Amino acid sequence: MKILPALRLFLLSIPVLIAGGCTNMDAQRAQTAPLHASPVAQYGALSVAEGHIVDAAGTPVSLAGPSFFWSTTGWGQERFYNADAVRFFAEDWNAKIVRAAMAAEREGSYLTDPDANAARAFTIVDAAIENGLYVVVDWHSHRAEENVEEAIAFFREVATRYGDTPNLIYEIYNEPLDTTDWATIVKPYSETLIEEIRKIDPDNLIVVGSQSWDQDVDKAADDPITGHENIAYAIHFYAGSHKDELMAKAQYAIDNGLALMATEWGTVNYDGDGPVDRASTLAWLKLLQDNSISHMNWAVSDAPEGAAMFVVGAPASGDWTDAHLTASGQFVREIIRNWGTKPLPAK
Ligand code: MG
Repeated sequence: MKILPALRLFLLSIPVLIAGGCTNMDAQRAQTAPLHASPVAQYGALSVAEGHIVDAAGTPVSLAGPSFFWSTTGWGQERFYNADAVRFFAEDWNAKIVRAAMAAEREGSYLTDPDANAARAFTIVDAAIENGLYVVVDWHSHRAEENVEEAIAFFREVATRYGDTPNLIYEIYNEPLDTTDWATIVKPYSETLIEEIRKIDPDNLIVVGSQSWDQDVDKAADDPITGHENIAYAIHFYAGSHKDELMAKAQYAIDNGLALMATEWGTVNYDGDGPVDRASTLAWLKLLQDNSISHMNWAVSDAPEGAAMFVVGAPASGDWTDAHLTASGQFVREIIRNWGTKPLPAK
């Protein structure tokens, strides 16, 4: 497919070349003209309308891409936080969105090493902007309500740096625990963060978490955040563990008007390990496709566990071949590459 625009450009340039009128500017444009529009050039600023995330023209949009792993200093997966990795996901995987999972709990996270972790997140955002991708900046914590001031400081910086770009999407709370009540803890935390972000950035999407690792979207649907625009809700699933019951909750939330985004999902069990559950993954992807829901797969990692895309020791800066991919990585690359352009595999 990529050859066609290039060929067309070449054919169009022939009369100019024959006429001898090819200026330096023309030649420069021909060399640097993109073969296809980037996702952000194509869809523009995203917003929420009538329960859907829509593009600048008001059409529901569904984007696929990878989620980076915890950015934690010393955990080993922070090496993947580099611009070449993002470029390779854009060019070779056809990714349209990426997620920076900026660690915000435990030693080595933003709480004890803020500059290094923020720099990793900003590396991903800068590279996403460079490649015309959407980018989710995630406060990767299960206890965000314990560090509200730190979260506010971080997202104020994110909003100041990137709030005027269409690329940026905020994810203000990765996964509240099952004991973290929606109505009395998660919702008030979210409202506080939303109000702080909106002082700087009036419009970019903000994704809110929900109780039980972003599974209780039914509770959020019954008691949604009001008075703010462009608010979406995270749904997280691990296909090996989460099946009909969680799909029914997701459908309930959709039916009740929540705009969902699967900011994290896995092909394997909820603990990030186990074999790929291909049938359950495809059932989930059909739900996402049918409802124009964007999704990011967990995770860009070579940790020795089922959810990792890469085998141990894979390079950190792209150029990944089949040999660098785990079973999950191979399946996920196929899904991301073909999302929105080809039907899902039959099985
Ligand atoms: Mg903005």
